[in-house]
Amino acid sequence: MRDVLLTACLIVIAAVSVNASPWSRIKSSFTRGSGRVQADHSQWAEERELGPYLIRSEFPLQDVHSLVQDLGDLQQDLEETLRLECQPQSIQIHLFQSKRSYDLYLRVRIPEGINRQALYVPGTDPGTGRIYAYRQRDLETDVRHETTHALLHTALPYVPIWIDEGLAEYFEMPGSLREKGHSHRKELRDAIRYQGWRPNIEKLEAKRKLLDMNGKDYRDSWGIVHFLLHGPKEARQALEVYFEEIQSGARETPLSQLLRTRIPNLDQVIIDHLK
Ligand SMILES: [Zn+2]
Repeated sequence: MRDVLLTACLIVIAAVSVNASPWSRIKSSFTRGSGRVQADHSQWAEERELGPYLIRSEFPLQDVHSLVQDLGDLQQDLEETLRLECQPQSIQIHLFQSKRSYDLYLRVRIPEGINRQALYVPGTDPGTGRIYAYRQRDLETDVRHETTHALLHTALPYVPIWIDEGLAEYFEMPGSLREKGHSHRKELRDAIRYQGWRPNIEKLEAKRKLLDMNGKDYRDSWGIVHFLLHGPKEARQALEVYFEEIQSGARETPLSQLLRTRIPNLDQVIIDHLK
């Protein structure tokens, strides 16, 4: 799991034309025009604008072309799955060749980001943000995770930390593996079988900061999100009401409350869904 507020990504595909790629389906328009964006760092081997993303990479993007394709699909997947409309304007994705290079870059800019595997930093303008990640085995997963954060924050004025992380954990997998392929699935099955695991949404809802979230909280948040998206229709209805309330600007009803009024014996229904 990523520990993180933000996101890091890595993606690339030098040889793919924009018209032939999933990027062409992205609705957002790039506000910078077609000109190259001024780089502030000479280390980038490649810079590429793809939809709302500006990818700066220390290595050729063709090395991560599958990730680039996934990013093209991610916004559409997220919008269709959550029935939200994302409005990204400019999301910069910085990909580093090594942890050392990543640390050197962040040390003077975002020192609190060092020691994280990837990072997402919201921008000050609506629809903007920056993602940082470095090359390692889980780079593509990290980038999808952090980009999910970035996109969610363009669709909602506020995203409670537990559901922000639960959704990022869910969408960090490639589309074909999201429902059944995440390691959290087996982890929760084992926890239910051997440790008497029970959900505790109210405890997750009480989390206010990223530092409040431990590894099991990420896993449990993923489990609740899986239930919301693949469980009974009443669960998805509760999620939709929840998002509508957040978008209204009013203080939202806790999701746990929306769920419990619709689903008697909620905890057992969640267990039965996940086991
Ligand atoms: Zn995260």
